[in-house]
Amino acid sequence: MLTWDEEVKPSSQNSSAGDLQNSRTVDAAPSASDTDVSAPTRRVNAADKRIINGQTDVNQLVPFKYKWAWEKYLATCANHWMPQEVNMTRDIALWKDPNGLSEDERRIIKRNLGFFVTADSLAANNIVLGTYRHITAPECRQFLLRQAFEEAIHTHAYQYIVESLGLDESEIFNAYNEIKSIRDKDEFLIPFIEAIMNPDFKTGTPENDQTLLKSLIVFACLMEGLFFYVGFTQILALGRQNKMTGAAEQYQYILRDESMHCNFGIDLINQLKLENPHLWTAEFKAEIKALFMKAVELEYRYAEDTMPRGVLGLNASMFKGYLRYIANRRATQIGLEPLFPNEENPFPWMSEMIDLKKERNFFETRVIEYQSGGALSWD
Ligand code: FE
Repeated sequence: MLTWDEEVKPSSQNSSAGDLQNSRTVDAAPSASDTDVSAPTRRVNAADKRIINGQTDVNQLVPFKYKWAWEKYLATCANHWMPQEVNMTRDIALWKDPNGLSEDERRIIKRNLGFFVTADSLAANNIVLGTYRHITAPECRQFLLRQAFEEAIHTHAYQYIVESLGLDESEIFNAYNEIKSIRDKDEFLIPFIEAIMNPDFKTGTPENDQTLLKSLIVFACLMEGLFFYVGFTQILALGRQNKMTGAAEQYQYILRDESMHCNFGIDLINQLKLENPHLWTAEFKAEIKALFMKAVELEYRYAEDTMPRGVLGLNASMFKGYLRYIANRRATQIGLEPLFPNEENPFPWMSEMIDLKKERNFFETRVIEYQSGGALSWD
């Protein structure tokens, strides 16, 4: 048996993390006659797996070490849905009725789609071209593959709503270039995505490992965990008033998926921290806190831009409290102190939406449970 130092400890020369064939593992395979003893591979010992800079074979899902990632992969598959299953007829009639919606409600819908039609493409590219290759735990890669597909479904859902309502596609898909409150959020995110997508970027030094950890935190806690929440709340508030119920139903499924992505990201971050405690320095924590503060400010500005006046029983200042409440929750989930102590949730009904499992959906338009192929009985 080789020691940790010889075999597993990440070194600064190790730039193979995440390579296709990363097969230096621990326990030697038995030298039975049917085993090719000349092969360089050795059997994977679960205890040797690592979230980053691992030396075990990334092609071998089992033996499991990160059971939580596998469980979340199974849970996301059980939540499978497709946008075209949702009937948009009532939404189309309401949108086309000149008296169906107020100007402020129409603004919310267009701004919302303007942010989200490109947000999930950013998310997908971040996973596929960035995060995935740096993560050396196959259970986590399995989840990320499913997550990437879900991001594609979400982009599909937003596109389906834009097409159903007959909106100006170039206006909506260009909003992230043309609408300042959206552009500012994306400009905040993009450097953290680009840092890990850079083909020359490799983990294996404390500095680069911190860059990856920061990107994971920005992505899970601030993008999926904070930047989506004004928009989700607005569309679900429309649905609660029996308006745009098809769009609201889609957002409800997306919210369920995204809260799983966020929870997986937080587990990933915490496991990475546990395995690499030297990365979690006072300086690093201060940097993360500053990013949280900036993200709350940007999302609040987005709330103000999308709601210049009170609408649907909501107004921008209610979101100040809500965003602080969410930021506290994300901060404590990754082991930071709450940033804004004593904030209450002004929208407790949003928690019901997130916690919704397999009951009928909130708008009672269809049964939410998706019977996936894998769960069908064949007799
Ligand atoms: Fe996501």
